[in-house]
Order: sequence, then structure tokens, then C-alpha cells
Amino acid sequence: MEDVLRYIESHQEKFLAELQELLRIPSISADPAHREDVLRCSRFLADHLRGIGLSVEVFQTPGNPILFASTPMIPAAPTVLFYGHYDVQPVDPLDLWQSPPFAADIRNGNIYARGASDDKGPVFAHMKGVEAFLRTRGTLPLNFRFFIEGEEEVGSAHLDPFIAAHRELLRADVVVISDTTQFAPGVPAVTYGLRGLAYLEVSLQGPSHDLHSGSFGGTVPNPAGILVDVLSRFKDERGAIRIPGFYDKVLPIASWEREMYDSLPFHAEEYRALTGVRKLRTEEGFTPLECRWARPTLDINGLYGGYAGPGAKTIIPARAGAKVSMRLVPDQDPEEIAALFTRYVLSLCPQDVSVEIKNLHGGKPVLMDVNSPWMKAARTAISKGFGKAPVLTREGGSIPVVATFKEVLQLDSLMLGFGRPDDGAHSPNEKLCLDDFYRGILTSAHLIDELGRTTAES
Ligand SMILES: [Zn+2]
Repeated sequence: MEDVLRYIESHQEKFLAELQELLRIPSISADPAHREDVLRCSRFLADHLRGIGLSVEVFQTPGNPILFASTPMIPAAPTVLFYGHYDVQPVDPLDLWQSPPFAADIRNGNIYARGASDDKGPVFAHMKGVEAFLRTRGTLPLNFRFFIEGEEEVGSAHLDPFIAAHRELLRADVVVISDTTQFAPGVPAVTYGLRGLAYLEVSLQGPSHDLHSGSFGGTVPNPAGILVDVLSRFKDERGAIRIPGFYDKVLPIASWEREMYDSLPFHAEEYRALTGVRKLRTEEGFTPLECRWARPTLDINGLYGGYAGPGAKTIIPARAGAKVSMRLVPDQDPEEIAALFTRYVLSLCPQDVSVEIKNLHGGKPVLMDVNSPWMKAARTAISKGFGKAPVLTREGGSIPVVATFKEVLQLDSLMLGFGRPDDGAHSPNEKLCLDDFYRGILTSAHLIDELGRTTAES
């Protein structure tokens, strides 16, 4: 590996300059005004992958393009499918950024930009791992395929149909993803479980239009008030979710998991400080880590209704609504949970308002076999790249495609986190530590080396 590692060592500056170029493209998938930037980003990566020596196909979808790139075919060698995304979250609130979100400023050993940690930096690290092999040896010990989409931050609407329609193209032995994080700075992690998601919107209609609260107050139902009543009945005082049947399929936390979580350097006080809340609020009977990884949740993500501008406006609003998401754990199913949620909300709503419930999106939770040969290779690669054995963690977030890989392609995903939990993904001042970027590249190279010597039976 010395030749490959030396290449990485001697090209750090070039890699960083290239990453800056990538991060300067504002590929915000949620904002139609950035559509051209999203396309530009896909072209940038396609050109870059071609430049490294991969053959690239760009698939147009009804949304943003999907990139597929392969290293020169090595028959009988394992095939690794790397999944990532080149789109990024919106940047608001803009005034909280210390440098413009697409300036890719370097300060205190970090690179600051929307997408630095989620997910352009980690995606790019793998590209550089592949480049290091191709430039030094002209070949890899396996078949490496990049499968990179541009709609992850808006729900990946066109990804599942694409996967279902391209099973042959995507045939592989294992999936690699770096869209999770280290457990803590200097504590690298392999993530073996993800929560799923059910996301719904409830909206209530009372009057046909906003009414004068003096002329009509006291005689008509107020959808904002009724909404608040309904929302207040989602959880009991112990933090348990009151939707009937909600917990029926929740797998208990295994004892090795409890021990692993308890052994992690988790400091509830530091974690609390990171959030800015006065006190953590957890489900009774579970530790914060258990609640975050292995227990389901229900959160109100947004509320609307009536007047919220400056000063007073005396109305009874016509409509009020809430966006509600539930993080799910194995073996909960998002469709089943959405149905249970809908039934429960309907049972709570009085007859004098009309109710509309939309199922906005969902994803299944997943758990991987932590003892598979692929997982062992991943653990070794991290140990070498970060100079430290990884811990085994779950993540509270969702990567719905991981469930799709499992279901449609029967593939396990190796989730190697390069960034840090405090990188500010989806928040102002998102960053990636430069050391993590370089360690990610080293890990990627070691992963190629390790997986190249792995078979499903080894
Ligand atoms: Zn991401």
C-alpha cells in the first residue's frame, strides 16, 4: 500500500483545492432557482471521474441526473457500489454563517461550506482513494462503482425507481456509504443501523376564510385551537407515543448493544450543550443514546395557521396545520405507521373542522450484520485510515436508500463516517475538518485494499 499512501500524502493540497471547487457549486436541490447549479455540479463530478480514469454514465431522470461511474472491469473480483449525493441543503438562515456558505473558506483546520460534511467532502474522499490507486497502479483490486444522486436532500424521489430498473447495472457484493459521522471527534464509527421515517402533514380547515374575531369569535370552530388540542395528545407524560399500535413491531435493544452504547465516550452534558436546550428530554427507561438510535420518536417539525406577523391582527384563521415526523426503528414500517397515525388523528379531530392528512414521505429502518466479512474489512480500513479501531453505532437519521439496497438488491451497506457530529450538517457554518478529509481518503484506499481481498465467505 505504500505507493498508494505516498500518492495521497503528496497530493493533499491538490485534493483540497479540488474539493473547494466542488463545494463552491451551490447545488441546492430544494430550490428551483439553483437547478442550473445542480446540473453544473453533476457535470463537474462526471468530468472529474472521467479525468481520474473511470467510465461515466449520466442518467437523466425526471428530477436531477444520477451519475454512475466504473473503474476498469476486473473479472472475478468483488464489486463495490459506492453511494453518495452531490446535492445539498438550503443555507438559510444566511445571517448566521460566518463566511458565505459557498465560499469554501478554510479556517482553524476546517473547510466551511454547505455540503462540506454532508455529503460532498466524504464522496470526494472516496474519489481520491480511487484516484490514488489508479494513478499509482493503473488498477484496483476490485470493481469500484460510484452511484451518485442529486436529490437526497429532497427525498430521493427518482432513486428507488432507478434502482428497480437498473438491477443489472447496480449488481455488486456490497454497498459503501459515507453519509454518516464519526461517533465523536477522534472516535471513528461504523454505523450498523439507521432509523426510518414517516413524515406527514395534518391540516385543518374551519371557516372558508379568515374571520373577524370580534364579529365571529365565540360562534365558530378555530382550527388553530383544535390543532393544538390534537397535537397535545401525541405523547404521554413519560414521553411515550400514544398512537395505538405504534410500538407493536419495535425490536428490543440487544444486550450487547446496551453494553456497547454504555461503553462509548458519550457525555450527556456536552451533548446537551451542543443542542442549547436547558435539559435533555428522553423517553422514560432509556438512555439518551438508546433514545437517539434505537427508539422511535414523534416530532412536530412545523406549525402554521393564522397571523404571525408583527403586531396584532384579530382573526379566526381559516386553516391551521402541522408537519409531523416520526423516526422509526426496526421492524416498524413507514406505511403501517402512517396509517396508524392517520387513524389516530382522525379519531381526535372533532366533526366541525375538515381534516386533510398527507403522507409526505417515508423510509424503512435498517440493521446490518456486524460480523459479516465485509463489515470486518470496513472496520480494518477505518482502523488503518484513522489510526484507531471504530466503534459500532447506529444513527438516528434516515438514509432510505440503504433499505432499498437491502430490499431490491439484497445488499448490505457499510456506513463509514468521516465527518463529525458537530460539523453542522443542515445548519449554518457547516464544516469538514481537513484531517478528517485526509483520513477519509486513507480509509477509502485501505477499504479498496481490504475489500479486494474479501469474499462473502471469508
Ligand atoms: Zn447526506
